Amino acid sequence: MKITFLGAARTVTGSCYVLECEHARFAIDCGMHQGNRVIEARNWDENGMYRPEALDFILLTHAHIDHSGLLPRLAAKGFKGRVHTTAPTRDLLTIMLEDSARIQETDAQWRSTKKLRAGDPPVEPLYTVEQAQKVLKQLKIEEYNAAFEPAPGIRVVFNDAGHILGSAFIELWIKEGEEETKLVFSGDLGRPNQLLVRNPETVEHADFLFLESTYGSRNHKNEAQSRQELAEAIAYSYERGEKVIIPAFAVERTQELLYSFYLLRKEGKLPEDLPVYVDSPLAIKATEIFRRHWDYYDHETKQRVKSGENPLEMPNLRFSLSVEESRAINSSQGPAIVIAGSGMANAGRIKHHLRHNIWKPGASIVFVGFQAEGTPGRRIVDGAQTIRILGEELSVKAKVFTIGGFSGHAGQSQILDWLSHFRNPDVQVYLIHGEHSGQKVLAELIREKFKFTVHIPDYLDECLLEKGGRFELTARPSLAAPRIDWEYLLEETTDKLDQVRERVEFIQRMGLSNQVEIRGNLLDINARFTSILSELMFEQKRKGDKA
Ligand SMILES: [Zn+2]
Ligand SMILES: [Zn+2]
Repeated sequence: MKITFLGAARTVTGSCYVLECEHARFAIDCGMHQGNRVIEARNWDENGMYRPEALDFILLTHAHIDHSGLLPRLAAKGFKGRVHTTAPTRDLLTIMLEDSARIQETDAQWRSTKKLRAGDPPVEPLYTVEQAQKVLKQLKIEEYNAAFEPAPGIRVVFNDAGHILGSAFIELWIKEGEEETKLVFSGDLGRPNQLLVRNPETVEHADFLFLESTYGSRNHKNEAQSRQELAEAIAYSYERGEKVIIPAFAVERTQELLYSFYLLRKEGKLPEDLPVYVDSPLAIKATEIFRRHWDYYDHETKQRVKSGENPLEMPNLRFSLSVEESRAINSSQGPAIVIAGSGMANAGRIKHHLRHNIWKPGASIVFVGFQAEGTPGRRIVDGAQTIRILGEELSVKAKVFTIGGFSGHAGQSQILDWLSHFRNPDVQVYLIHGEHSGQKVLAELIREKFKFTVHIPDYLDECLLEKGGRFELTARPSLAAPRIDWEYLLEETTDKLDQVRERVEFIQRMGLSNQVEIRGNLLDINARFTSILSELMFEQKRKGDKA
Protein backbone atom coordinates (compact mmCIF):
# COMPACT_ATOMS: atom_id res chain seq x y z
CA MET A 1 0.00 0.00 0.00
CA LYS A 2 1.18 3.50 -0.79
CA ILE A 3 0.48 6.95 0.62
CA THR A 4 1.02 10.31 -1.08
CA PHE A 5 1.14 13.51 0.96
CA LEU A 6 -0.75 16.08 -1.09
CA GLY A 7 -0.89 18.74 1.62
CA ALA A 8 -0.34 19.71 5.25
CA ALA A 9 3.14 18.18 5.05
CA ARG A 10 5.60 20.52 6.79
CA THR A 11 2.79 23.11 6.62
CA VAL A 12 -0.61 23.39 8.28
CA THR A 13 -3.01 23.80 5.35
CA GLY A 14 -4.20 21.68 2.43
CA SER A 15 -4.64 18.44 4.41
CA CYS A 16 -4.95 15.57 1.92
CA TYR A 17 -3.47 12.09 2.02
CA VAL A 18 -4.12 9.68 -0.82
CA LEU A 19 -3.91 5.96 -0.11
CA GLU A 20 -3.60 3.33 -2.80
CA CYS A 21 -4.16 -0.29 -1.80
CA GLU A 22 -5.29 -3.52 -3.40
CA HIS A 23 -8.99 -2.65 -3.38
CA ALA A 24 -9.18 1.10 -3.68
CA ARG A 25 -7.62 4.50 -4.14
CA PHE A 26 -9.04 7.03 -1.68
CA ALA A 27 -8.25 10.20 0.27
CA ILE A 28 -8.32 11.26 3.88
CA ASP A 29 -9.41 14.93 3.82
CA CYS A 30 -9.18 17.25 0.89
CA GLY A 31 -8.36 20.68 2.20
CA MET A 32 -7.60 23.98 0.61
CA HIS A 33 -4.01 25.22 0.56
CA GLN A 34 -3.92 28.66 2.20
CA GLY A 35 -1.24 31.24 2.82
CA ASN A 36 0.75 32.96 0.12
CA ARG A 37 0.44 32.84 -3.66
CA VAL A 38 2.93 29.99 -4.14
CA ILE A 39 1.12 27.76 -1.64
CA GLU A 40 -2.31 28.64 -3.02
CA ALA A 41 -1.18 27.67 -6.53
CA ARG A 42 -1.24 24.06 -5.26
CA ASN A 43 -5.06 24.20 -5.27
CA TRP A 44 -5.03 24.20 -9.07
CA ASP A 45 -3.20 20.85 -9.16
CA GLU A 46 -1.10 21.64 -12.18
CA ASN A 47 1.01 18.53 -11.54
CA GLY A 48 -2.10 16.33 -11.85
CA MET A 49 -1.51 14.62 -8.50
CA TYR A 50 -5.11 14.35 -7.22
CA ARG A 51 -6.59 12.41 -10.17
CA PRO A 52 -10.14 12.94 -8.76
CA GLU A 53 -11.76 10.64 -11.33
CA ALA A 54 -9.68 7.79 -9.91
CA LEU A 55 -10.64 8.36 -6.25
CA ASP A 56 -13.14 5.79 -4.95
CA PHE A 57 -14.18 7.63 -1.78
CA ILE A 58 -13.04 10.28 0.71
CA LEU A 59 -12.96 10.12 4.51
CA LEU A 60 -13.41 13.59 6.00
CA THR A 61 -12.16 14.36 9.53
CA HIS A 62 -13.89 17.73 10.00
CA ALA A 63 -15.42 20.77 8.33
CA HIS A 64 -12.56 23.30 8.49
CA ILE A 65 -11.72 24.55 4.98
CA ASP A 66 -8.07 23.48 5.26
CA HIS A 67 -9.46 19.91 5.43
CA SER A 68 -12.57 20.13 3.23
CA GLY A 69 -12.10 23.11 0.91
CA LEU A 70 -11.16 21.25 -2.28
CA LEU A 71 -14.18 18.89 -2.28
CA PRO A 72 -16.20 20.98 -4.79
CA ARG A 73 -13.17 21.21 -7.07
CA LEU A 74 -12.57 17.43 -7.00
CA ALA A 75 -16.22 16.69 -7.69
CA ALA A 76 -16.25 19.18 -10.57
CA LYS A 77 -13.15 17.47 -11.97
CA GLY A 78 -14.63 13.99 -11.95
CA PHE A 79 -14.75 12.59 -8.39
CA LYS A 80 -17.98 10.57 -8.21
CA GLY A 81 -17.62 8.65 -4.94
CA ARG A 82 -18.96 9.12 -1.43
CA VAL A 83 -17.57 11.51 1.18
CA HIS A 84 -17.96 9.83 4.57
CA THR A 85 -18.27 12.16 7.55
CA THR A 86 -20.26 12.93 10.73
CA ALA A 87 -23.64 14.70 10.93
CA PRO A 88 -22.39 18.02 12.38
CA THR A 89 -19.61 18.11 9.76
CA ARG A 90 -22.20 17.63 7.02
CA ASP A 91 -24.29 20.55 8.35
CA LEU A 92 -21.26 22.80 8.77
CA LEU A 93 -20.11 21.98 5.23
CA THR A 94 -23.39 23.20 3.78
CA ILE A 95 -22.50 26.74 4.90
CA MET A 96 -18.70 26.60 4.72
CA LEU A 97 -18.26 25.31 1.17
CA GLU A 98 -20.76 27.83 -0.16
CA ASP A 99 -18.97 30.62 1.69
CA SER A 100 -15.64 29.42 0.32
CA ALA A 101 -17.09 29.29 -3.23
CA ARG A 102 -18.36 32.86 -2.90
CA ILE A 103 -14.87 33.99 -1.94
CA GLN A 104 -13.47 32.13 -4.98
CA GLU A 105 -16.04 33.70 -7.30
CA THR A 106 -15.50 37.23 -6.00
CA ASP A 107 -11.76 36.81 -6.21
CA ALA A 108 -11.94 35.53 -9.80
CA GLN A 109 -14.29 38.37 -10.76
CA TRP A 110 -11.94 40.95 -9.34
CA ARG A 111 -8.94 39.43 -11.11
CA SER A 112 -10.94 39.11 -14.34
CA THR A 113 -11.79 42.81 -14.49
CA LYS A 114 -8.09 43.57 -14.23
CA LYS A 115 -7.23 40.95 -16.89
CA LEU A 116 -9.98 42.07 -19.27
CA ARG A 117 -8.82 45.66 -18.99
CA ALA A 118 -5.36 44.46 -19.99
CA GLY A 119 -6.81 42.53 -22.95
CA ASP A 120 -6.30 39.07 -21.40
CA PRO A 121 -8.90 36.29 -21.03
CA PRO A 122 -10.92 36.25 -17.75
CA VAL A 123 -9.96 34.15 -14.71
CA GLU A 124 -12.00 31.06 -13.80
CA PRO A 125 -12.86 30.60 -10.12
CA LEU A 126 -11.36 27.56 -8.37
CA TYR A 127 -15.00 26.48 -8.01
CA THR A 128 -18.45 28.00 -8.08
CA VAL A 129 -21.31 28.17 -5.57
CA GLU A 130 -23.22 25.74 -7.77
CA GLN A 131 -20.34 23.24 -7.66
CA ALA A 132 -20.12 23.63 -3.87
CA GLN A 133 -23.81 22.83 -3.51
CA LYS A 134 -23.53 19.85 -5.82
CA VAL A 135 -20.85 17.99 -3.88
CA LEU A 136 -23.05 18.04 -0.74
CA LYS A 137 -25.14 15.28 -2.35
CA GLN A 138 -22.11 12.98 -2.17
CA LEU A 139 -21.84 13.27 1.64
CA LYS A 140 -22.67 10.18 3.66
CA ILE A 141 -23.21 10.43 7.40
CA GLU A 142 -21.39 8.07 9.75
CA GLU A 143 -21.77 7.69 13.52
CA TYR A 144 -18.90 7.91 15.97
CA ASN A 145 -17.55 4.51 17.09
CA ALA A 146 -19.52 2.52 14.50
CA ALA A 147 -17.53 0.61 11.87
CA PHE A 148 -18.39 0.86 8.18
CA GLU A 149 -16.90 -0.55 4.97
CA PRO A 150 -16.50 2.04 2.21
CA ALA A 151 -14.93 -0.62 -0.04
CA PRO A 152 -14.32 -4.38 0.27
CA GLY A 153 -11.46 -5.15 2.64
CA ILE A 154 -11.47 -1.64 4.19
CA ARG A 155 -13.00 -1.05 7.61
CA VAL A 156 -13.29 2.44 9.11
CA VAL A 157 -14.22 3.87 12.52
CA PHE A 158 -14.66 7.59 13.28
CA ASN A 159 -13.80 8.65 16.84
CA ASP A 160 -14.42 11.99 18.53
CA ALA A 161 -11.25 14.10 18.06
CA GLY A 162 -12.52 16.86 20.35
CA HIS A 163 -11.31 19.60 17.97
CA ILE A 164 -14.55 21.12 16.67
CA LEU A 165 -18.17 20.00 16.62
CA GLY A 166 -18.31 16.73 14.68
CA SER A 167 -14.52 16.38 14.30
CA ALA A 168 -13.11 12.88 14.04
CA PHE A 169 -9.90 10.95 14.11
CA ILE A 170 -9.98 7.89 11.93
CA GLU A 171 -9.10 4.25 12.52
CA LEU A 172 -8.63 2.26 9.33
CA TRP A 173 -8.10 -1.48 8.85
CA ILE A 174 -6.95 -2.45 5.39
CA LYS A 175 -6.81 -6.03 4.22
CA GLU A 176 -4.42 -6.98 1.41
CA GLY A 177 -4.22 -10.70 0.75
CA GLU A 178 -4.05 -12.34 4.17
CA GLU A 179 -2.50 -9.38 5.90
CA GLU A 180 -4.37 -6.64 7.74
CA THR A 181 -2.71 -3.27 8.40
CA LYS A 182 -4.05 -0.69 10.81
CA LEU A 183 -3.72 3.03 10.17
CA VAL A 184 -4.76 5.94 12.37
CA PHE A 185 -5.22 9.50 11.10
CA SER A 186 -5.45 11.98 13.96
CA GLY A 187 -7.09 14.74 11.90
CA ASP A 188 -6.86 17.89 13.99
CA LEU A 189 -6.54 16.73 17.56
CA GLY A 190 -8.45 18.82 20.09
CA ARG A 191 -7.18 20.41 23.26
CA PRO A 192 -8.66 18.62 26.28
CA ASN A 193 -10.97 20.83 28.40
CA GLN A 194 -12.35 22.89 25.54
CA LEU A 195 -15.62 24.42 26.60
CA LEU A 196 -18.08 23.03 24.06
CA VAL A 197 -16.78 19.77 22.69
CA ARG A 198 -15.79 16.56 24.43
CA ASN A 199 -12.19 15.57 25.14
CA PRO A 200 -10.47 13.60 22.38
CA GLU A 201 -11.01 9.86 22.57
CA THR A 202 -7.89 7.70 22.63
CA VAL A 203 -6.65 4.65 20.76
CA GLU A 204 -4.20 1.90 21.69
CA HIS A 205 -2.84 0.40 18.51
CA ALA A 206 -1.71 1.31 15.01
CA ASP A 207 0.86 0.07 12.55
CA PHE A 208 1.02 3.55 11.06
CA LEU A 209 -0.06 6.73 12.81
CA PHE A 210 -0.44 10.05 10.99
CA LEU A 211 -0.27 12.61 13.74
CA GLU A 212 -0.97 16.34 13.61
CA SER A 213 1.76 18.54 15.09
CA THR A 214 0.49 22.14 14.91
CA TYR A 215 1.77 22.86 18.43
CA GLY A 216 4.71 20.45 18.29
CA SER A 217 7.02 22.85 20.08
CA ARG A 218 4.67 24.71 22.43
CA ASN A 219 2.44 24.16 25.41
CA HIS A 220 -0.75 26.04 26.21
CA LYS A 221 -1.52 27.90 29.40
CA ASN A 222 -4.47 26.46 31.26
CA GLU A 223 -8.07 27.50 30.65
CA ALA A 224 -8.59 29.64 33.77
CA GLN A 225 -5.36 31.59 33.10
CA SER A 226 -6.37 32.12 29.51
CA ARG A 227 -9.80 33.43 30.45
CA GLN A 228 -8.09 35.76 32.93
CA GLU A 229 -5.85 37.07 30.12
CA LEU A 230 -8.90 37.69 27.98
CA ALA A 231 -10.43 39.65 30.87
CA GLU A 232 -7.22 41.72 31.06
CA ALA A 233 -7.41 42.57 27.36
CA ILE A 234 -11.02 43.63 27.78
CA ALA A 235 -10.28 45.75 30.86
CA TYR A 236 -7.29 47.39 29.10
CA SER A 237 -9.30 48.66 26.14
CA TYR A 238 -12.53 49.28 28.06
CA GLU A 239 -10.74 51.71 30.38
CA ARG A 240 -9.23 53.49 27.39
CA GLY A 241 -12.50 53.64 25.46
CA GLU A 242 -11.16 51.56 22.57
CA LYS A 243 -12.00 48.25 20.91
CA VAL A 244 -10.83 44.67 21.42
CA ILE A 245 -10.32 43.07 18.01
CA ILE A 246 -10.27 39.27 17.85
CA PRO A 247 -9.44 37.46 14.59
CA ALA A 248 -11.11 34.05 14.87
CA PHE A 249 -12.15 31.08 12.79
CA ALA A 250 -15.91 31.28 12.24
CA VAL A 251 -16.40 27.67 13.26
CA GLU A 252 -15.64 26.57 16.83
CA ARG A 253 -13.18 29.33 17.84
CA THR A 254 -15.94 31.96 17.65
CA GLN A 255 -18.36 29.79 19.63
CA GLU A 256 -15.71 28.99 22.26
CA LEU A 257 -15.14 32.73 22.60
CA LEU A 258 -18.85 33.42 23.05
CA TYR A 259 -18.91 30.73 25.72
CA SER A 260 -15.91 32.39 27.42
CA PHE A 261 -17.68 35.77 27.40
CA TYR A 262 -20.74 34.09 28.84
CA LEU A 263 -18.58 32.73 31.70
CA LEU A 264 -16.74 36.04 32.18
CA ARG A 265 -20.10 37.79 32.44
CA LYS A 266 -21.16 35.32 35.14
CA GLU A 267 -17.89 36.06 36.96
CA GLY A 268 -18.61 39.80 36.71
CA LYS A 269 -15.59 40.42 34.43
CA LEU A 270 -17.49 41.54 31.34
CA PRO A 271 -18.89 45.08 31.62
CA GLU A 272 -22.68 45.03 31.09
CA ASP A 273 -22.56 48.00 28.70
CA LEU A 274 -19.82 46.54 26.48
CA PRO A 275 -21.21 45.33 23.16
CA VAL A 276 -19.83 42.07 21.73
CA TYR A 277 -20.04 41.97 17.94
CA VAL A 278 -19.78 38.82 15.87
CA ASP A 279 -19.01 40.33 12.48
CA SER A 280 -19.15 37.26 10.26
CA PRO A 281 -22.20 35.87 8.44
CA LEU A 282 -20.51 32.47 8.43
CA ALA A 283 -19.94 32.51 12.20
CA ILE A 284 -23.56 33.49 12.75
CA LYS A 285 -24.83 30.57 10.66
CA ALA A 286 -22.33 28.22 12.30
CA THR A 287 -23.56 29.28 15.74
CA GLU A 288 -27.08 28.24 14.68
CA ILE A 289 -25.78 24.80 13.69
CA PHE A 290 -23.98 24.49 17.02
CA ARG A 291 -27.22 25.25 18.87
CA ARG A 292 -28.97 22.54 16.86
CA HIS A 293 -26.34 19.85 17.56
CA TRP A 294 -26.13 20.31 21.32
CA ASP A 295 -26.19 16.51 21.75
CA TYR A 296 -22.54 16.57 20.56
CA TYR A 297 -21.51 18.95 23.37
CA ASP A 298 -19.56 17.74 26.39
CA HIS A 299 -21.33 16.64 29.56
CA GLU A 300 -21.08 19.93 31.45
CA THR A 301 -22.44 22.02 28.58
CA LYS A 302 -25.27 19.57 27.98
CA GLN A 303 -26.25 19.95 31.65
CA ARG A 304 -26.30 23.73 31.21
CA VAL A 305 -28.49 23.47 28.13
CA LYS A 306 -30.84 21.04 29.88
CA SER A 307 -31.25 23.45 32.79
CA GLY A 308 -32.34 26.16 30.37
CA GLU A 309 -29.08 28.11 29.99
CA ASN A 310 -27.63 29.06 26.63
CA PRO A 311 -23.86 29.55 26.78
CA LEU A 312 -23.84 30.98 23.24
CA GLU A 313 -26.19 33.83 24.16
CA MET A 314 -25.80 37.12 26.08
CA PRO A 315 -27.88 40.30 26.28
CA ASN A 316 -25.10 42.49 24.81
CA LEU A 317 -24.30 40.13 21.92
CA ARG A 318 -24.82 41.60 18.44
CA PHE A 319 -24.55 39.80 15.12
CA SER A 320 -23.78 41.79 11.99
CA LEU A 321 -24.70 40.15 8.73
CA SER A 322 -24.49 42.92 6.15
CA VAL A 323 -21.48 44.91 4.98
CA GLU A 324 -23.26 48.12 6.13
CA GLU A 325 -23.60 46.75 9.66
CA SER A 326 -19.93 45.80 9.55
CA ARG A 327 -18.93 49.32 8.51
CA ALA A 328 -21.13 50.80 11.22
CA ILE A 329 -18.97 49.07 13.86
CA ASN A 330 -15.93 50.93 12.57
CA SER A 331 -17.59 54.32 12.69
CA SER A 332 -19.06 53.67 16.16
CA GLN A 333 -17.25 55.37 19.02
CA GLY A 334 -16.42 53.80 22.35
CA PRO A 335 -15.31 50.40 23.55
CA ALA A 336 -16.54 47.15 22.04
CA ILE A 337 -15.41 43.59 21.40
CA VAL A 338 -15.28 42.59 17.72
CA ILE A 339 -14.88 38.99 16.60
CA ALA A 340 -14.34 38.54 12.85
CA GLY A 341 -12.63 36.26 10.34
CA SER A 342 -10.32 35.17 9.03
CA GLY A 343 -8.55 33.69 12.03
CA MET A 344 -5.08 34.51 10.65
CA ALA A 345 -6.03 38.03 9.51
CA ASN A 346 -5.17 37.26 5.87
CA ALA A 347 -8.70 37.68 4.48
CA GLY A 348 -12.23 38.78 5.31
CA ARG A 349 -13.75 41.54 7.43
CA ILE A 350 -11.07 41.38 10.13
CA LYS A 351 -8.72 43.30 7.81
CA HIS A 352 -11.00 46.34 7.97
CA HIS A 353 -11.23 46.17 11.75
CA LEU A 354 -7.46 45.93 12.01
CA ARG A 355 -7.01 48.89 9.69
CA HIS A 356 -9.32 50.97 11.90
CA ASN A 357 -7.81 49.95 15.22
CA ILE A 358 -4.29 48.51 15.10
CA TRP A 359 -2.67 51.98 15.17
CA LYS A 360 -4.61 53.08 18.27
CA PRO A 361 -2.61 52.79 21.52
CA GLY A 362 -5.69 51.93 23.64
CA ALA A 363 -6.97 49.14 21.40
CA SER A 364 -6.17 45.42 21.83
CA ILE A 365 -5.66 42.71 19.27
CA VAL A 366 -6.26 39.27 20.74
CA PHE A 367 -5.03 36.14 18.93
CA VAL A 368 -6.72 32.93 20.03
CA GLY A 369 -5.69 30.51 17.29
CA PHE A 370 -2.63 29.27 15.43
CA GLN A 371 -1.00 31.88 13.15
CA ALA A 372 0.70 30.24 10.17
CA GLU A 373 4.00 31.45 8.72
CA GLY A 374 3.58 34.19 6.13
CA THR A 375 0.24 35.48 7.41
CA PRO A 376 -0.29 39.03 8.77
CA GLY A 377 -1.45 37.44 12.04
CA ARG A 378 1.90 35.72 12.47
CA ARG A 379 3.81 38.94 11.79
CA ILE A 380 1.82 40.85 14.39
CA VAL A 381 2.27 38.06 16.95
CA ASP A 382 6.02 38.07 16.24
CA GLY A 383 6.14 41.76 17.13
CA ALA A 384 6.17 43.65 13.81
CA GLN A 385 6.26 47.44 14.30
CA THR A 386 4.32 48.08 11.10
CA ILE A 387 2.05 45.88 9.04
CA ARG A 388 0.70 46.12 5.51
CA ILE A 389 -3.07 45.65 5.42
CA LEU A 390 -5.34 46.46 2.46
CA GLY A 391 -2.45 48.13 0.70
CA GLU A 392 -1.67 50.45 3.59
CA GLU A 393 1.38 50.41 5.87
CA LEU A 394 0.01 50.67 9.43
CA SER A 395 1.84 51.31 12.68
CA VAL A 396 1.18 48.64 15.33
CA LYS A 397 0.34 50.60 18.49
CA ALA A 398 -2.47 48.44 19.88
CA LYS A 399 -1.64 45.99 22.66
CA VAL A 400 -1.19 42.48 21.27
CA PHE A 401 -2.35 39.46 23.30
CA THR A 402 -1.64 35.86 22.23
CA ILE A 403 -3.76 33.48 24.24
CA GLY A 404 -2.84 29.87 23.40
CA GLY A 405 -5.26 28.44 25.95
CA PHE A 406 -8.17 29.00 23.57
CA SER A 407 -6.61 26.89 20.85
CA GLY A 408 -8.59 24.10 19.25
CA HIS A 409 -5.39 22.07 18.96
CA ALA A 410 -3.67 19.94 21.55
CA GLY A 411 -0.47 21.57 22.83
CA GLN A 412 2.83 19.69 22.87
CA SER A 413 2.35 17.88 26.20
CA GLN A 414 -1.25 17.06 25.28
CA ILE A 415 -0.14 15.47 21.99
CA LEU A 416 2.36 13.38 23.97
CA ASP A 417 -0.37 12.39 26.46
CA TRP A 418 -2.59 11.21 23.63
CA LEU A 419 0.32 9.29 22.14
CA SER A 420 1.07 7.59 25.47
CA HIS A 421 -2.05 5.43 25.00
CA PHE A 422 -0.44 3.50 22.15
CA ARG A 423 0.58 0.04 23.34
CA ASN A 424 2.57 -1.31 20.39
CA PRO A 425 6.19 -0.08 20.39
CA ASP A 426 6.62 -0.77 16.66
CA VAL A 427 4.12 1.92 15.63
CA GLN A 428 5.52 4.14 12.88
CA VAL A 429 4.63 7.79 13.37
CA TYR A 430 4.34 10.29 10.52
CA LEU A 431 4.12 13.89 11.66
CA ILE A 432 1.76 15.96 9.54
CA HIS A 433 -0.10 19.31 9.81
CA GLY A 434 2.68 21.36 11.39
CA GLU A 435 5.61 23.61 10.54
CA HIS A 436 8.91 21.85 10.12
CA SER A 437 10.72 23.62 12.97
CA GLY A 438 8.07 22.52 15.49
CA GLN A 439 7.86 19.03 14.01
CA LYS A 440 11.58 18.43 14.54
CA VAL A 441 11.20 19.28 18.23
CA LEU A 442 8.20 16.97 18.63
CA ALA A 443 9.88 14.13 16.68
CA GLU A 444 12.87 14.23 19.04
CA LEU A 445 10.59 14.13 22.09
CA ILE A 446 8.62 11.16 20.74
CA ARG A 447 11.79 9.20 19.96
CA GLU A 448 13.17 9.95 23.39
CA LYS A 449 10.03 9.26 25.37
CA PHE A 450 8.44 6.35 23.52
CA LYS A 451 11.24 5.04 21.25
CA PHE A 452 8.79 5.13 18.30
CA THR A 453 10.04 5.55 14.74
CA VAL A 454 9.12 9.04 13.52
CA HIS A 455 9.10 10.44 9.97
CA ILE A 456 8.42 13.97 8.79
CA PRO A 457 7.15 13.70 5.21
CA ASP A 458 7.31 16.67 2.85
CA TYR A 459 4.77 17.96 0.32
CA LEU A 460 4.21 15.42 -2.53
CA ASP A 461 6.33 12.74 -0.86
CA GLU A 462 5.19 9.23 -1.59
CA CYS A 463 5.75 6.36 0.80
CA LEU A 464 5.31 2.59 0.77
CA LEU A 465 3.53 1.38 3.90
CA GLU A 466 4.74 -2.11 4.60
CA LYS A 467 4.07 -3.49 8.04
CA GLY A 468 7.44 -4.05 9.70
CA GLY A 469 8.96 -3.24 6.34
CA ARG A 470 11.55 -0.67 5.47
CA PHE A 471 10.84 3.01 5.02
CA GLU A 472 10.88 3.74 1.33
CA LEU A 473 10.21 7.27 0.32
CA THR A 474 10.01 8.98 -3.04
CA ALA A 475 10.53 12.70 -2.71
CA ARG A 476 9.62 15.21 -5.38
CA PRO A 477 11.45 18.32 -4.25
CA SER A 478 11.45 20.00 -7.67
CA LEU A 479 7.67 19.68 -8.07
CA ALA A 480 7.06 20.54 -4.43
CA ALA A 481 8.98 23.78 -4.34
CA PRO A 482 9.78 25.36 -7.70
CA ARG A 483 13.07 27.23 -7.46
CA ILE A 484 12.92 31.02 -7.52
CA ASP A 485 15.56 32.51 -9.79
CA TRP A 486 16.58 35.47 -7.63
CA GLU A 487 19.62 36.27 -9.70
CA TYR A 488 17.54 36.72 -12.85
CA LEU A 489 14.75 38.63 -11.10
CA LEU A 490 17.12 41.11 -9.45
CA GLU A 491 19.12 41.62 -12.62
CA GLU A 492 15.98 42.37 -14.57
CA THR A 493 14.78 44.86 -11.96
CA THR A 494 18.15 46.64 -11.87
CA ASP A 495 18.27 46.68 -15.65
CA LYS A 496 14.90 48.43 -15.91
CA LEU A 497 15.87 51.00 -13.32
CA ASP A 498 19.05 51.71 -15.33
CA GLN A 499 16.98 52.22 -18.45
CA VAL A 500 14.84 54.81 -16.66
CA ARG A 501 18.00 56.50 -15.34
CA GLU A 502 19.44 56.77 -18.87
CA ARG A 503 16.32 58.70 -19.83
CA VAL A 504 16.31 61.22 -16.99
CA GLU A 505 17.27 64.11 -19.24
CA PHE A 506 14.47 63.20 -21.62
CA ILE A 507 12.01 63.01 -18.71
CA GLN A 508 13.07 66.48 -17.57
CA ARG A 509 12.16 67.90 -20.98
CA MET A 510 8.62 66.42 -20.75
CA GLY A 511 5.57 68.41 -19.66
CA LEU A 512 5.05 68.87 -15.94
CA SER A 513 1.96 66.65 -15.71
CA ASN A 514 3.85 63.77 -17.40
CA GLN A 515 6.74 64.24 -15.03
CA VAL A 516 4.42 64.24 -12.02
CA GLU A 517 2.88 60.99 -13.17
CA ILE A 518 6.24 59.27 -13.63
CA ARG A 519 7.39 60.57 -10.27
CA GLY A 520 4.21 59.13 -8.68
CA ASN A 521 4.87 55.71 -10.18
CA LEU A 522 8.49 55.73 -9.04
CA LEU A 523 7.43 56.78 -5.55
CA ASP A 524 5.05 53.79 -5.47
CA ILE A 525 7.89 51.45 -6.42
CA ASN A 526 10.09 53.12 -3.85
CA ALA A 527 7.47 52.57 -1.14
CA ARG A 528 7.22 48.88 -2.06
CA PHE A 529 10.99 48.58 -1.70
CA THR A 530 10.81 50.23 1.72
CA SER A 531 8.16 47.74 2.76
CA ILE A 532 10.20 44.75 1.46
CA LEU A 533 13.29 46.01 3.26
CA SER A 534 11.53 46.67 6.55
CA GLU A 535 10.11 43.14 6.45
CA LEU A 536 13.55 41.70 5.68
CA MET A 537 15.18 43.63 8.50
CA PHE A 538 12.43 42.55 10.88
CA GLU A 539 12.91 38.88 9.96
CA GLN A 540 16.69 39.16 10.23
CA LYS A 541 16.43 40.73 13.64
CA ARG A 542 13.99 38.05 14.79
CA LYS A 543 16.23 35.23 13.54
CA GLY A 544 19.21 36.96 15.16
CA ASP A 545 17.33 37.32 18.45
CA LYS A 546 16.57 33.62 18.41
CA ALA A 547 20.18 32.61 17.73
ZN1 LIG B 1 -9.31 22.15 12.12
ZN1 LIG C 1 -6.35 21.81 10.32
